[in-house]
Amino acid sequence: MNLRYDIAVIGGGAAGMLAAIKAAEAGAKVVLFEKKQVCGRKMLLTGKGRCNMTNTKPWAEFSSHMHPKAAFVKAAFHNFSNKDTIRFFNQIGLPTVVTQGQRVFPESMSAADVVDVLVSRMTKLSVDILYNCDIIKVMKSEKCYKCIYNKRIGDMMDIQAFSVKAVIVATGGLSYPITGSTGKGYDIARSFEHTVTPCFPSLTALTPKNYDTRLIGIDLENVGIYLTVNGDIVQMETGDLSFTDGGIEGSLGYRVSRKAVHAMINGNKVEIVLDLKPALSVATIKARIGREMEDLHYTEPLTDRRMVTLLKRLMPQQLIQPFLFAHKNVDVKSLPDVLKEWRFPIAKYVGYERAVVTAGGVSTEEVVSKTMQSRLSSGLFFAGEVLDVDGDTGGYNLQFAFSSGALAGQSAAKYVKSLKI
Ligand SMILES: Cc1cc2nc3c(=O)[nH]c(=O)nc-3n(C[C@H](O)[C@H](O)[C@H](O)COP(=O)(O)OP(=O)(O)OC[C@H]3O[C@@H](n4cnc5c(N)ncnc54)[C@H](O)[C@@H]3O)c2cc1C
Repeated sequence: MNLRYDIAVIGGGAAGMLAAIKAAEAGAKVVLFEKKQVCGRKMLLTGKGRCNMTNTKPWAEFSSHMHPKAAFVKAAFHNFSNKDTIRFFNQIGLPTVVTQGQRVFPESMSAADVVDVLVSRMTKLSVDILYNCDIIKVMKSEKCYKCIYNKRIGDMMDIQAFSVKAVIVATGGLSYPITGSTGKGYDIARSFEHTVTPCFPSLTALTPKNYDTRLIGIDLENVGIYLTVNGDIVQMETGDLSFTDGGIEGSLGYRVSRKAVHAMINGNKVEIVLDLKPALSVATIKARIGREMEDLHYTEPLTDRRMVTLLKRLMPQQLIQPFLFAHKNVDVKSLPDVLKEWRFPIAKYVGYERAVVTAGGVSTEEVVSKTMQSRLSSGLFFAGEVLDVDGDTGGYNLQFAFSSGALAGQSAAKYVKSLKI
């Protein structure tokens, strides 16, 4: 059969671009469909525009940041690891740096540079990139796949189609739909009888009940939080937290958000308990307060003004009024406990419009982890966030997109070579 292309990649995000590059490097003729005007719109937002591309942690540690089943990621990671990501980008002209927390960024700290080198590499390998082309359906005939798409020409839409030998679905999840990820890949997967596990936003803000908006804009360093579900502590973390217009966010908020959102969806009561002094015991804080009182020549009970002066020595100034509002009867005696246990019952979470990643997706039970090929339809591959795999913050999600994309591209090229058409 004389087809113009061997492989169609659907989606020009991190996973799709790597898939197209690796398939083309293996000798396949590749077309990439991207419904937006440019590739990598989401990548441009990553790491606050700096793109935290990967994390140098070894697999044993790396795997603890992948959900829900790190085992599915293992083969893809070992085939194209975090070290391979760094090597690959360095070779195609993008120097990288490792920063705090073993996070890797482009040396230029510009996400746009990451997208640029990927697009240049695709162009060099003669991958045809069809922009403004939204795949609406994929159908399998006996020997090939037909990709039907809407091509935007100005204000007009034109329905067109291409037949290819293999398809890689790399359409992303549901988060930040403005970047083009609107869940179309799930429909494509379902049309081939694939199971899509329930999706929910992860790495997102948790909004406290009666959220005190005076907290917005406050960043706290080295604090602790406990996530409780129906009163039981299910996760403890220390690090940095931010109060934003969405609620509790920042790396700490994100770390607990996956479990918190999942619990809320299932109708459970969720609470965040903030420990402002995670390194100190209640007894140590008591002794410290005693020393501060002596230094200030204060005796109990304290007037409101004196309490504020004391608190200035114990927490950032902007936090004092919301803290006192939340703990109206606090006195010197109860203060150590309250500093370690500021309770925020959670009312809701911020949805896909601002969630960093989508949990859930195409079930990994029906995809071969060593190839990323569908178990239900040969020649159909999946890569990236469309799959039921999500990571913590720290470069894990992009590494999964690169690893699964590279493996899907290589496997699809091998599959195409093996066909006798
Ligand atoms: C604000 C923000 C910051 C982030 N920061 C980081 C970070 O620093 N480090 C990290 O590791 N991860 C980060 N992530 C997560 C990471 O960006 C994603 O997990 C990753 O980009 C997923 O890649 P993907 O290729 O699977 O999907 P996407 O990047 O979502 O790409 C999917 C592409 O497919 C296209 N598409 C969808 N449907 C169709 C269709 N029907 N036809 C044609 N094209 C289609 C879309 O337009 C899109 O371009 C961040 C995410 C966000 C939202």
